Amino acid sequence: MGLGRKHKRLQHHNESTSEREKMSPQKTASQTETKEFQAEVKKMLDIVIHSLYTEKEIFLRELISNAADALEKFRHQSVMEEEVFDSHVPLEIGIEFDEKANTLTITDTGIGMDRGELEANLGTIAHSGSKTFFSKLSETDRKEVNLIGQFGVGFYAAFMVAKKVSVKSRSFRLDDMGHEWISDGGGTFTIAMCPGIRRGTSIVLELTDEAKEYADEQTIRRIIKQYSNFVPFPIKLKGEPINTVQAIWTLGKSEVTEEAYTEFYKFIANAYDEPLARLHFSADAPLAIKTLLFIPKENFESMGFGRMDPGVNLYCQRVLIEQHSKTILPEWLRFLRGVIDSEDLPLNISRQALQDSALVAKINKVVTKRLLKFLEELARSEPEKYTEFWKNFGMFIKEGVISDYAYREEAAKLLRFESSKTEAGIFTSLAEYVERMPEGQKEIFYINGPSREAIENGPYIEAFKKRNLEVIYTLEPIDDFAMSHLGAFAEKKLVSADRGDLDLPEAVTETEADKEKGQSEAMAAPDSVALTTWMKEVLGEQVKEVIASKRLTDSPAMVVNPDGFVTSSMERIMRASGQGGLQQFGGKNLEINTSHPLIKGLAGLKEKDGEVAQSVVEQIFDNAMIQAGLMVEPRNMVARSYKILERLVGK
Ligand code: ADP
Ligand code: MG
Repeated sequence: MGLGRKHKRLQHHNESTSEREKMSPQKTASQTETKEFQAEVKKMLDIVIHSLYTEKEIFLRELISNAADALEKFRHQSVMEEEVFDSHVPLEIGIEFDEKANTLTITDTGIGMDRGELEANLGTIAHSGSKTFFSKLSETDRKEVNLIGQFGVGFYAAFMVAKKVSVKSRSFRLDDMGHEWISDGGGTFTIAMCPGIRRGTSIVLELTDEAKEYADEQTIRRIIKQYSNFVPFPIKLKGEPINTVQAIWTLGKSEVTEEAYTEFYKFIANAYDEPLARLHFSADAPLAIKTLLFIPKENFESMGFGRMDPGVNLYCQRVLIEQHSKTILPEWLRFLRGVIDSEDLPLNISRQALQDSALVAKINKVVTKRLLKFLEELARSEPEKYTEFWKNFGMFIKEGVISDYAYREEAAKLLRFESSKTEAGIFTSLAEYVERMPEGQKEIFYINGPSREAIENGPYIEAFKKRNLEVIYTLEPIDDFAMSHLGAFAEKKLVSADRGDLDLPEAVTETEADKEKGQSEAMAAPDSVALTTWMKEVLGEQVKEVIASKRLTDSPAMVVNPDGFVTSSMERIMRASGQGGLQQFGGKNLEINTSHPLIKGLAGLKEKDGEVAQSVVEQIFDNAMIQAGLMVEPRNMVARSYKILERLVGK
């Protein structure tokens, strides 16, 4: 098909033909027309030119995106049509600049425009929505200026930086001769014949003085890299393509090599290594979405680099809409890097409009759900990889459970903890815990502590050990907040083991020794009333109540939370962040183990040496507070413990 067409092309470019046209002034003059812009365009131009619309550099994105559209259309036409003009010309975008003349030129070899198309496309607003918007917008009401982006300024964005715009264009149709469209953004534009040009469009911007910076190589390079790097046609600056990275997310999985994925990841995440995992998927319904998301290996937020910016860019057909979008995914997924591309989005949607867009919310939901499912699958198919993910990024999942009601239940399936039934450093899911629950156990128990050892040597899990009940160890301060926000999993209530009103099932593996202990506990009961009353007097406002414990077997005492909503670990954090004192948390109960020798001996000591007995009570309370992970006042405590020690060495 090439030959015949090439021949025709040569005819079009025939010097003598062009000369003839130029030498026939009447004809040319009669072909030059001055036209008025449509009223809405005038309004729009006025606003675009005079507004303080801040992101002026997006004009280049707009023009490149139009060029890419035109190239895409040409590609389509050349397949459909029998003959197209200049069929051999490579499909590409060229950028030229002249610092002295203060001009910037964007050239494409796309579909081009004939006279009628120049007039219609660059003189009116095609989109009815934008048209209505601009016709309603009053001349004086400039507040809405930042809505502009939403309504497809597109080509007219050129006038944000140019005092004069010239568009030379020649259609792919064989009968077109080429025309030049010129305007200074005032009320009118001219169209004249412009013979002898190649297929496609060349836009020359005569930059305003304020926009001089755009005739600079570094600036141009940066803007193109930032907004148009994945445009699927080469964008050449000084003859060299500068958009090197392909839009690989638009390809099928089988079309992308591992190397290409990694290269792209490195580019988009500014990473030096490989990603931990990736999710590449596309959907057609309910929305057309192409997504490529990466989970990095490192979590810089936990490494003390401060709060991360979100890392997923939003595209519409390979054209960047928003970099590091805050709206396209929930905030707690900010550790992800990658691209979401939806052709359903309007290209010119503004930041503000993105935030309010129902469409963006829908995309957000579809992708978030898919990602959570992906992570669940990863946990099943590659447990080791998932564990690595969990260690680095589990904090974000917990944040999601706490902050995002919409995905709480799905995110909860991704939670992992150590427990009394796992080895150290091995994680269990809540689902696995539920599977292991013996008959009769209705709740999921957890307890917070600074380490596995601290928990296992502390008072709280004694009752659970005795009953062979599994307890989840929440080792991070944030964990108890996650548990408390979650409330329940698989319809089983999540209960902290430091609750005062725990209702535990009967001990299932009661030994003879346990039975005896139980009896002695029962026998000790009458005396314990006097003891607990006295201890409460000693401790005063520090505790709500002192109670003879039904749970303790080895430790002498522990503090529990009577209201059961705020665990000690949560209280610690809330106190540290200045949220209320002890009073606000309703106070603790001190549970004492009446069969423990220390507690048993306390009544006798009280008779012999009341002062030291009081010190011992206070020390027991402080120790219990420390075991609950709560701060005690060290000065008093140290002085008091010396007093007790003095007595011990026989002062
Ligand atoms: P949109 O791209 O959203 O349609 P624009 O204002 O950016 O709106 O462009 C208006 C129209 O002008 C386009 O739809 C297209 O028909 C035409 N156009 C703009 N630039 C080019 C170009 N480089 N080549 C061919 N047609 C173009
Ligand atoms: Mg456009």
